[in-house]
Amino acid sequence: MADRRPVIAGNWKMFKTVHEAEDYAVKFLDEVKDVTDIDIVLCAPFTALSALKNELEESIVHLGAQNMAWADQGAYTGEISAQMLLDVACTYVILGHSERREMFGETDEEIARKVQQALRAGLTPILCCGENLSLREEGKAVERVQGQVTRALAGLSADELSRIIIAYEPIWAIGTGKTASSKDAQEMCASIRATLTERMGMAAEKVPILYGGSVKAENIAELMTEPDVDGALVGGASLDPLQFAKLIKNAG
Ligand code: PGA
Repeated sequence: MADRRPVIAGNWKMFKTVHEAEDYAVKFLDEVKDVTDIDIVLCAPFTALSALKNELEESIVHLGAQNMAWADQGAYTGEISAQMLLDVACTYVILGHSERREMFGETDEEIARKVQQALRAGLTPILCCGENLSLREEGKAVERVQGQVTRALAGLSADELSRIIIAYEPIWAIGTGKTASSKDAQEMCASIRATLTERMGMAAEKVPILYGGSVKAENIAELMTEPDVDGALVGGASLDPLQFAKLIKNAG
């Protein structure tokens, strides 16, 4: 990774009650309190955010959500707004995760609206992209990922683009134990940066691009040696506070 500050974000997905989240936060903070060179983010379920706000206050750990609505407020049953996330001290939000695209039918257009909404509210979107196995085998992975990124970022100004984080997560590597090789991760992260460069010129050099998909304490160091991999979005290995803290320390 070049001259960019690394970001390691945990994606808890649909795990942890309020009590479990509080318990995690105490143990985790104790482990990472001396980490100074990495931005650490915990993306927790909506129901745990308020409790985590209290636990993480004035700590080095940032809070994130895993989704949000594209509207300000109104008759949107079951949705959570950017304003509500800000209210519980969230500063990051994962958008367009492949599980939301595949299981909940989120389209590139909806994701683009959510990215715009998050930026307007002052949240940092962690925009996810990634191909499935058959596209990779057909040699269409780059085309798919570049298309997802281009469509999600349509209409954003250079200033807005400079406030995003991208997470490349090949679907075949998520929760499967199969990590992309660091060479594959680098190749795709570099092609995402090339797409960003077309939109925003040299400012693309400042955008953090993360890799996600079976990242663990054992493989993070190698991934971090790649010039365009600036950190990781971590699912399974973020669920245990000691394991996640170890991963973060190995990334530094
Ligand atoms: P994983 O999930 O680390 O469990 O593969 C990553 C993600 O889906 O963000």
